[in-house]
Amino acid sequence: MPAAQPAFRKTRIAPTPSGYLHLGNVLSFAHTAALAQKTGAEILLRIDDLDQQRIRPEYVQDIFDTLNFMEIPWHEGPRNIHEYKTRWSQMYRLGSYKQALDRLKLQGDLFACICSRRSKTPCTCLSQKLPFDLPESSWKLLTTNDNIEVHSYPDEIITARLPADVQNFIVRKKDELPAYQLASVVDDLLFDIDLVVRGEDLWSSTLAQLQLAKKLRVEPFLKTTFYHHPLLMANGDQKLSKSAGDTSVKWLREQGRTRTDIYSAIARQFGKNEKINTCYELADVLGL
Ligand SMILES: [Zn+2]
Repeated sequence: MPAAQPAFRKTRIAPTPSGYLHLGNVLSFAHTAALAQKTGAEILLRIDDLDQQRIRPEYVQDIFDTLNFMEIPWHEGPRNIHEYKTRWSQMYRLGSYKQALDRLKLQGDLFACICSRRSKTPCTCLSQKLPFDLPESSWKLLTTNDNIEVHSYPDEIITARLPADVQNFIVRKKDELPAYQLASVVDDLLFDIDLVVRGEDLWSSTLAQLQLAKKLRVEPFLKTTFYHHPLLMANGDQKLSKSAGDTSVKWLREQGRTRTDIYSAIARQFGKNEKINTCYELADVLGL
């Protein structure tokens, strides 16, 4: 008898509206939708809009257009740009992010940093004990090197340490808005997420977020199950897109490509020459 399929409450699709969605995003959403269907989880659409300088309304609209065109379902979250603006923007949850930041600060887990993003010299701000209200400073988490346990789909526990690229990562940006890792953990808790599907390039983020959750002492997040899916090849699908780099779904749609064309093109990148009509078929062919 095969092992019972684990069941989950809720997962999420979390695009950032700082550009038009591309095939890589569709691949990730398709995995999320298929895994949700398999495990009985609902899907939340969360629009990650804290990078306020780069957000544009046409990119928000593109999220709805792409999900609808590709027939990727969601059960909770905004259905259109109006609902997003009036209720679902992350800007409405700044109070929750601030609570988490205050807690970390009080516990002595943060330090202020004035290094520029492009700085090549290592950050020595920790030893300088800079004041937190220094203008143009970001806040970093003082990370530790202990073991982190990742619950990996379907039922494996992987133990790892925080990789170098996320050591002392930023939790509040220079513009005083919370950084991605912090907002993501707080949101996943608020929305009762217990299954996270993301590309394998975000493995470091998973570890960073688990360490953050441990410092925030938020037990439910530590029990979250993660699924890291393989990525598309960087050079894209030559048959689908002639101009290198332009693999936005919007552009393909405007060229008259159908949903089946797009799903089939993604499958071809994994060496599968089949006609794929839905997100579920794609995940199936890719062996999820
Ligand atoms: Zn620094």
